[in-house]
Amino acid sequence: MLRYLIQTFGCQMNVHDSRRIEEVLYARGYEATDAPELADLLLFNTCSVREKADHKLRSMVGTFRELKERRRDLVIAVAGCMAQQRGEALLSEIDLVDVVIGPDNIPELPELVRHVRSGGPPIARTVFDMDAPSFLTAQVRPERPEVCAYVTVMKGCDERCTYCIVPYTRGAERYRCADDIVAEIKTLCAGGVREITLLGQTVNSWHEPGDSGGESRFAALLERITREVPELWRLRYTSPHPRHVTDALIDAHARLAVLPAHVHLPVQSGSDRMLRLMLRRYRRQDYLDRAQALRRARSGFTLSTDIIVGFPGETHADFEATLSLVREVGFSGVFAFKYSPRPHTPALRLGDTISEELKSERLARLFEVADELQQRHLQSLLGTTLQVLIEGPSKSAGAQPANCVRVSGRSERHEIVHVDAPSGLDLSGQLLEVRIDQAYKRSLVGTPLEPWPEVASMPASAAKSKTAVRLPLMVT
Ligand code: SAM
Ligand code: SF4
Repeated sequence: MLRYLIQTFGCQMNVHDSRRIEEVLYARGYEATDAPELADLLLFNTCSVREKADHKLRSMVGTFRELKERRRDLVIAVAGCMAQQRGEALLSEIDLVDVVIGPDNIPELPELVRHVRSGGPPIARTVFDMDAPSFLTAQVRPERPEVCAYVTVMKGCDERCTYCIVPYTRGAERYRCADDIVAEIKTLCAGGVREITLLGQTVNSWHEPGDSGGESRFAALLERITREVPELWRLRYTSPHPRHVTDALIDAHARLAVLPAHVHLPVQSGSDRMLRLMLRRYRRQDYLDRAQALRRARSGFTLSTDIIVGFPGETHADFEATLSLVREVGFSGVFAFKYSPRPHTPALRLGDTISEELKSERLARLFEVADELQQRHLQSLLGTTLQVLIEGPSKSAGAQPANCVRVSGRSERHEIVHVDAPSGLDLSGQLLEVRIDQAYKRSLVGTPLEPWPEVASMPASAAKSKTAVRLPLMVT
């Protein structure tokens, strides 16, 4: 039996791809290991959105040189965006790499590993499946139950934001048909999944493949999933593009309780001049209007966002416009990045005009504002009751009472909530009513309103239905 170890970098799309890679390997008899020295295949699933990710990969692979020299049969593979972007060149750029495999070639991985293990030369496969797009379907594995899962609805991107490498690493937009999306969600829910996040680079531009109008039918897709998979508790999506936040989508947020009262809606900048240079295809006011409409659709609605600081030519006034937009929207979370020039992108022509020092200064100021907003939001939840879908053991190091373990999950709005539960209770997949007692910098701590013994004395499947609070479906 061959063993594999996968190291994943980057976004949810890569996390999702890593799961599919695991399933392809599992189907061919591979077994997972956490120990590199026991692995026959070390796979790095990479990101190339920012240059830092490139450097990280190179230094990470380098740490396995000694192991590779000792274990000549160890295969080192690179997958993901960097594999797609560099292709065959990566084989000579990092001499330890044996296999380079693009996101659309995942099913070929076992064959490529076999080729190298039987003495073949290093090999690269990075061909887009433009003619017959395929979407790998999740395989439910009862021995590894999941509470939350990703389902891809589209891949690639046609937006061509001037700073972004994704259209070159993931190719043109390809859509998955609704029948397949619904079928995959049903299978996952039958296997115990309670929360689905629909994935796509511009997820809300979704329409049926071959739909000649190409107009977003995303709201109709959400509605269909809600109707046909009533056992689903929560339906999220990421990342939506602001220009595809249609009235129908806003209306869906008002009517479908399965949609949480939160959206991650990347804005990138609050300056119209920057948005134009970035080719974001909306103005500051358009974004503010959409954000406000979402807020009106559902009480307590929160938004988080992505922002790039130090885009070429960003002036003090442009940056101040971003800060003022962040304050005006009152984001509950901000993911901010320093602009990083990427190969092939149109923004390269603009140069990298903002010094590293100024980028760092702006990033720090932005985080200051974002942290203050997040703190204010988390503090406002003290004493309230949230419905928390428990995902598993907590990563937080908070002090726990004796005989307790800390577990964590997400609220309906996506806040991370920790709960101290008696040791020995498996609460994964439980939807608990939790009173919030404490706010950390980025998460909350609370106490369940239901008594523990009720959960403890039941088998997991029964406990699930007993403790689940199914929200009413508000379809008019
Ligand atoms: N498709 C999504 C969207 O439109 O927002 C996000 C895709 S991208 C992988 C995630 C985030 O990385 C972007 O929202 C942007 O803020 C950031 N990003 C992309 N290219 C970048 C670059 N060249 N430099 C810095 N940040 C970048
Ligand atoms: Fe990149 Fe823009 Fe496409 Fe997002 S929408 S993946 S930022 S090109």
